[in-house]
Amino acid sequence: MLSAPGSDIQFLKGVGPRRAQLLSTELGASTIQELLRVYPYKYIDRTTVQPISSIQSTAAAVQIRAQVVSSVLLDKAGNQVDASSGQVNFNMVSRLSAIVTDGTASMEIVFFKGIKYIWKRIQPGRVYIFFGKPNIYNGRMNMVHPEVDDPGQQEFSQVQASLTGVYPSTEKLKNAGITGKVMTRIMLSALNAGLPDIQETLPDYVMKEKGLVPLNFSLRNIHFPKDQQSLRKAEYRLKFEELFFLQLSLLKQKYVRSRNAVGIPMPNVGEAFHKCYESLPYSLTGAQKRVIREIREDMRGGRQMNRLLQGDVGSGKTMVAVLSALIATGNGYQACLMAPTEVLARQHYSNICKYLSGTGVNVSVLTGTTRAAERRAVLEDLSTGKTGIIVGTHALIEDGVVFKNLGLAIIDEQHRFGVDQRARLWGKSRVSPHILVMTATPIPRTLAMTLYGDLDISVIDEMPPGRIPVQTIQIGENQRLSLYRFIKDQISAGRQAFIVYPMIFENEKVDYKNVERGYEEIVRAFPFPEYKVAIVHGQQSDEEKKFNMDAFVAGRANILVSTTVIEVGVDVPNATVMVIESPERFGLSQLHQLRGRVGRGGGASYCVLVRSRKLSEESRKRLDLLCSTEDGFVLAEEDMKMRGPGDLEGTQQSGLPIELSIASLARDGQILADARDYASHILENDPDLSLPQNRQLRLELRKDKYNKLDYSKIS
Ligand code: ADP
Ligand code: MG
Repeated sequence: MLSAPGSDIQFLKGVGPRRAQLLSTELGASTIQELLRVYPYKYIDRTTVQPISSIQSTAAAVQIRAQVVSSVLLDKAGNQVDASSGQVNFNMVSRLSAIVTDGTASMEIVFFKGIKYIWKRIQPGRVYIFFGKPNIYNGRMNMVHPEVDDPGQQEFSQVQASLTGVYPSTEKLKNAGITGKVMTRIMLSALNAGLPDIQETLPDYVMKEKGLVPLNFSLRNIHFPKDQQSLRKAEYRLKFEELFFLQLSLLKQKYVRSRNAVGIPMPNVGEAFHKCYESLPYSLTGAQKRVIREIREDMRGGRQMNRLLQGDVGSGKTMVAVLSALIATGNGYQACLMAPTEVLARQHYSNICKYLSGTGVNVSVLTGTTRAAERRAVLEDLSTGKTGIIVGTHALIEDGVVFKNLGLAIIDEQHRFGVDQRARLWGKSRVSPHILVMTATPIPRTLAMTLYGDLDISVIDEMPPGRIPVQTIQIGENQRLSLYRFIKDQISAGRQAFIVYPMIFENEKVDYKNVERGYEEIVRAFPFPEYKVAIVHGQQSDEEKKFNMDAFVAGRANILVSTTVIEVGVDVPNATVMVIESPERFGLSQLHQLRGRVGRGGGASYCVLVRSRKLSEESRKRLDLLCSTEDGFVLAEEDMKMRGPGDLEGTQQSGLPIELSIASLARDGQILADARDYASHILENDPDLSLPQNRQLRLELRKDKYNKLDYSKIS
């Protein structure tokens, strides 16, 4: 599409066709309007001058105003090169060292490059502005290659007038000569050319009610802040705007859907529900009860339920799933529970059978290993309606699987499934079934709001009573032998242990080698027949996995060596030790998931992190945090701050629905929550945004970026 010549960035001063092309491919900006939405990611503060005596060597950059006391040239050996004659052989010189003072203290200024030029420029006795990163070298404060400005020069006073934005850049941009300084100049001309045409995106009443500054003020000040306060106002407005439109588009879809999606009314609770409830060996936690009420409320009405159930590992989601399924059967409909792995599906099946014995509800299971004859029988009972609840893996979404009347689809560990797979499950019913997706990956509130902006969310935020906290300890390689002794003690006390190896590369073969090597070592340390060690990894067939898992679940094996396949759901209450090798290679949330595999049987449990020799400062902090808390949400929140939301366990597949250019889900949670409430308030009064005062909102939501959001049913 041709854009108006006035808005094409190639006509900006200093751009031209080649750079315009690069700015478009590298930064996604081909019009002036788009370029103005590429914001600085940080600012260099050159508005203040610091006394040398107050400088911390840890500062990123400081600016000083100081007089040159002396300036000498040094050779490689550190000897002074004679410059008294004025004739200097610069080939001999390796360093220029100047001592400068501002009356509070003195420091050294050092140059290794461009010495000839600086040597002429810096004259003892005169005052300069130096800007750079302070260091401590040989016990003395210095600055290497600072920017040098003459305080009298006009160019300098312009720089000093504002905070200077630093823009995102790439190798290609730098090679094309688009340095920081050049980018600043391009932005200045973009601002001058583009600002008059900028359309305000927010209605007046929104800006007034939320105390936001106008868009043109914001764009000017985000690029060239007049002062700190203007910058803060600009930032706040742009962040709010970004998050507000994101939420507005998500919530609008939710409104549209909730008006369109007719749900199956399920007014009854049913006898089986009561029977199951009364025969529970424990009483439900308050959180479980609350969530079941929320689900009942959804299913009762005429609207389709779309609910995400979050609950930390061990919080008792399975029971909520079972009781929800019984509501469906109590109203004459079928329910299915889909789990991501064979192991989990089988485990759910055997648990559910226990809970439902005596209720008269038929349960069956279907997975990849179900044999042909059995499969035929399972499918037959499913299509006639004899089966009330079916548990399974991906096998449930295959074409041959036909329900009589599916009323509720429950998905465990939903992030393991793609949107397509989930959509196929809903396709198995004439009327969309109610949908409950469950996840143990604690998703921080802000991220959940964005990823699942169109879903209702329930949280089980209370653990069943009597759980003994898992003791988490870090050990080094050198303590491996005492770790083995400890495991042997636990085994002789009748307990079992997990030993988990990380996925080092995406490549499954390599992971396999890693876990194989570990297995060999463990078998040597725990020799047969005294000890029995099972192994599970991604290269095995489903049958092999099942064989090994079963051995561990049934207690025939004392130790289970595995890659992360056991991360989700596996329930072996007798296991009390979780050993994690190279824990620094896992995300915090993932480590927390693994830890949740133990501490389920009431016995004192341990999670042992076997650290690698070299640990970065950040890894050390993360592991310390894991040892200090068992709150999955705290860990997830921290994961998100440290690694960014894209890396958060459980979100890789779904990805962020939209790229944020200024707001941060990790840091701007408060603004997000506020923007969401406000968006929802606007939609309540004007669901189609058809009122005249909301015209701008309607126009903004027509933009491509909001229409790319694909929330087919659920995402
Ligand atoms: P998750 O949320 O990780 O799926 P589960 O549903 O597997 O958790 O429950 C973990 C364990 O806690 C199971 O052994 C289950 O029987 C038990 N449990 C669930 N709810 C309660 C409760 N209210 N009181 C006591 N134990 C419970
Ligand atoms: Mg579970």
